[in-house]
Amino acid sequence: MSSSERAVAGRIFNFSAGPGCLPLAVLEEAQADLVNYKGVGMSVLEMSHRSKTYDAIIKTAQADLREVMGIPDGYHVLFLQGGASLQFSMVPLNFLPKDGSADYIVTGAWSQGAVKEAKRVGNVNIAATTESENFGRIPAQSELKLAADASYVHFTSNNTIFGTEWATEPEVGTVPLVCDASSDILCRSIDVSKYGLIYAGAQKNMGPAGVTTVIVRDDMLGRIPDGLHSMLDYRTHVKKESLYNTPPCFSIYVVGLVLKWLKGLGGLEAMEQINREKAGMLYDAIDGTEFYRGTAANDSRSLMNVTFRLPNEDLEKKFVAEATAAGLDGLKGHRSVGGLRASIYNAFPTAGVKALIDFMKEFERANG
Ligand SMILES: *Cc1c(COP(=O)(O)O)cnc(C)c1O
Repeated sequence: MSSSERAVAGRIFNFSAGPGCLPLAVLEEAQADLVNYKGVGMSVLEMSHRSKTYDAIIKTAQADLREVMGIPDGYHVLFLQGGASLQFSMVPLNFLPKDGSADYIVTGAWSQGAVKEAKRVGNVNIAATTESENFGRIPAQSELKLAADASYVHFTSNNTIFGTEWATEPEVGTVPLVCDASSDILCRSIDVSKYGLIYAGAQKNMGPAGVTTVIVRDDMLGRIPDGLHSMLDYRTHVKKESLYNTPPCFSIYVVGLVLKWLKGLGGLEAMEQINREKAGMLYDAIDGTEFYRGTAANDSRSLMNVTFRLPNEDLEKKFVAEATAAGLDGLKGHRSVGGLRASIYNAFPTAGVKALIDFMKEFERANG
């Protein structure tokens, strides 16, 4: 599908870290239904969020997320706005009492962003940080200085900028585990029952920008203090089933299409296998030469964001320019770390990974 994807639609290989690529099949379905959704006479873009048609769209998306992720009963699925960045504030506003303390495991810039907002609300204990190693690895369980009486433990499952990912979630005993899964949600299956709350901006690996998914365990709601602004209180959105105010209707609709696409592929087990193949090929290509150097420790490597360097910055600039000209777009590393980053989210085609590897070989031959 993917090589024809490029030829037929004239699309390039999009390695963007976010918003990231979407499955072509999803874009085409949205296009086909754009002007007159399923014959109802209007677009999803124009439709009342209180209509029967839209209610089916949002309910189906929620049900499909439950099915695909195996979300147990006793968890609520919310579609909110404000991005993962608003969750940096909502999590402590709801769950960090003024006299309490929360544990934060700091593995990159987004973890630091979460800490910054939590500190405005209450005490933060940095349970571990790999900042002194430029966030090149995930800390071991034995390094975590967790407090038994913490209100929750917050971690970032995949560090989009640094190309590291937790192989499995930290063990936190009975303290609620809160996860920013913005850049690896749906890349593999996880045991949701281990979490108190999971949040993810959709625009990396589940859909378009504008909607943020929150999965929250019911007993967490009992910890929320009264007096929060309605929009900032998870209970408002649970009670109104994400329809307290106008939701990001079209983004939720596209998330629903992505979930249908994932189900058609065989769900998260099948998706994980494809992701391991794609990332494995690329890491093998990096490891197979001295010319390229991966920046993440081997046991911390991300399936989603593959970060690597060339022998010097001039070559990195040349690589990005020539790759872009060859239809391999978005490979420049984040401005804070430099180097190269290939974001190969679920929707990124295997053919694009192969095209990058071919390009890397040729670039090394010409410049190595
Ligand atoms: C992109 C990203 C964010 C920020 O997401 P917004 O939706 O733009 O607020 C937060 N955390 C992680 C891990 C990210 O990759």
